[in-house]
Amino acid sequence: MGKLVDELKQDIQYQHGMNACLNCGICTAVCPAAEVYEYSPREVMNICHTEDEEWLIDLLKSDKIWFCGQCYSCKPRCPRGNSTADVILALRRLSVRHGYFAESEKGRQQLFAKRVFGENMLKRGYTLTAENITPEHFPELGENWEYYFEHMKEMREWWDVPMDKENSAGSHRVIPEKDMDELRAIYKATGAIELMEAVEKGMEKKLGSKKEVEKYWENWLETADSRTYEMKS
Ligand code: SF4
Ligand code: SF4
Repeated sequence: MGKLVDELKQDIQYQHGMNACLNCGICTAVCPAAEVYEYSPREVMNICHTEDEEWLIDLLKSDKIWFCGQCYSCKPRCPRGNSTADVILALRRLSVRHGYFAESEKGRQQLFAKRVFGENMLKRGYTLTAENITPEHFPELGENWEYYFEHMKEMREWWDVPMDKENSAGSHRVIPEKDMDELRAIYKATGAIELMEAVEKGMEKKLGSKKEVEKYWENWLETADSRTYEMKS
């Protein structure tokens, strides 16, 4: 058994999600992600169950661990009481901690998750704010959203839910600083801050420099598509 396998087994969510896999494939049969991606929860569980270090590394470097939508449809149907969803979360943390996530296109999207959802949480206490939903990236929201996006401050005053005010309603209220301090303490104690830092470091290592990470980021902001960034290796 290798070091990574040992580390994976320390993760409490892995302990909860993996009992014993009999490779029956029921999880794959019910998995909505398996319908649309080259993805099989059965394969993920089987690799973990073998405890083969090399297979595990290949898995951590692949897109596969990022396809799961965390719907938990697989959990109640597994005859061994496993939860691929929980195992996947443990695998993702392991992949980020060791920088393997940056080897796959879907894994590199963690930079987006860190800089938008993660940083929003630490600054505002929300994962997503209306400013993130730009009309050019979400044209399907149509003209009404475009109008709201451009006039949100006046519209919210008109609705009597002003922006940037303590205890106003919705995602634009300001959360009191003492509550924000508690939230940041939770992020620190649970290791979320460490994972966020590991995302920046892993991307820098993979792309070669901080400057290149910023180029990747700018490309994302322009195109909203991580596939359009050309990897050098
Ligand atoms: S349903 Fe459970 S036992 Fe069957 S392959 Fe999936 S994880 Fe393994
Ligand atoms: S939780 Fe993930 S692996 Fe399980 S059914 Fe949903 S998408 Fe598939």
